[in-house]
Amino acid sequence: ITSNGSDKTLVGSNNSEQTLLGRVDSVDSQDDPLGHSFKRVNSLSVALKEWDIPYEQLQIGDPIGTGRFGAVYKGQWHGDVAIKMLHMDPDTDNQAQLAAFKLEVAMLRKTRHENLVLFMGACMKPPHLAIVTSLCKGHSLYTYIHVRKEKFLMNKIIIIAQQVAQGMGYLHAKGIVHKDLKTKNIFIDKDKVVISDFGLFNVTKLCHFNRRTDELQIPPGWLCYLSPEIIRSLQAGSTYGKSDLPFTEKSDVYAFGTVWYELLTGEWPFKNFPPECIIWKVGRGVKQSLGNIVGSRDVKDVLIMCWSFHTEDRPKFSQILKAIYRLPKKPFQRSPSHPISLSRSADP
Ligand code: ADP
Ligand code: MG
Repeated sequence: ITSNGSDKTLVGSNNSEQTLLGRVDSVDSQDDPLGHSFKRVNSLSVALKEWDIPYEQLQIGDPIGTGRFGAVYKGQWHGDVAIKMLHMDPDTDNQAQLAAFKLEVAMLRKTRHENLVLFMGACMKPPHLAIVTSLCKGHSLYTYIHVRKEKFLMNKIIIIAQQVAQGMGYLHAKGIVHKDLKTKNIFIDKDKVVISDFGLFNVTKLCHFNRRTDELQIPPGWLCYLSPEIIRSLQAGSTYGKSDLPFTEKSDVYAFGTVWYELLTGEWPFKNFPPECIIWKVGRGVKQSLGNIVGSRDVKDVLIMCWSFHTEDRPKFSQILKAIYRLPKKPFQRSPSHPISLSRSADP
């Protein structure tokens, strides 16, 4: 393992049968990525106009942070907004990037759910490509769990998980696969759970694909959300534009399992294991031990279902919602609509 100095872990490929090679697509492709996409983009161009935010109208403020997508800024556009800047890669086909970007925007505008970040529009004229969403003023679930080390009451865990499952169920009903569900993309905003960054995975790849052909870039904390079938498809090297990782609704369900595990334990699965080891274990169906979970059999069953090796054994979010709803609640449990009070507390 080496570090490329950009906060990534690199795993070198080898010549074994299970070579791990990275794949990066040029667009949100199916069989005929470019031709197919351009046709769709043309037919969408009129509809997309109303979501086009002229770059000059944005007041760009302080940077909030940097992720795989690039820099995220706080800004003003009819109120507070978050602005995700997309830096086009100069070595890449700009038309393909633009087509991919517009497809993502076309998909984002379909999303209207209280547990999803509000998509407000996008700057779609190169070189200024950006996605503008509502600004989440609370912390991410990642910050609560891993930075502030909050211990949630089981009742609160249930409320949070229900809202995540509700938002995810809606996305899937709209035909959108999140592809990057993780606690960093779940915010607790005004006592409400808000999921962000759905469907943007292909765009992020356009910005940061790996130019080295013998290594796979693994952002920190990414692997434990990847289902076995995705882990087994990882390959080192930049096969840009050729194929895609097999993200599906079921890989989102696997990632939800990891979020559920983090909520329950305050840790990531396979904590302290090196990336190669996690890849080997998950790819072969070895699961994180559930011994450190304090909870009933039903609580663990949610995890076992979501982390099933075979995709067909993983539940839909509607089934997850039912399973979580059936979990025993403490007498003082309030309805899911009751505001979540995220105080530091231990389960009695
Ligand atoms: P990641 O998801 O890996 O953290 P992002 O590019 O999505 O990377 O986010 C970079 C930073 O910007 C993070 O600190 C994240 O919490 C913050 N951020 C992203 N979207 C929003 C938003 N809508 N509101 C507030 N902060 C955001
Ligand atoms: Mg994010």
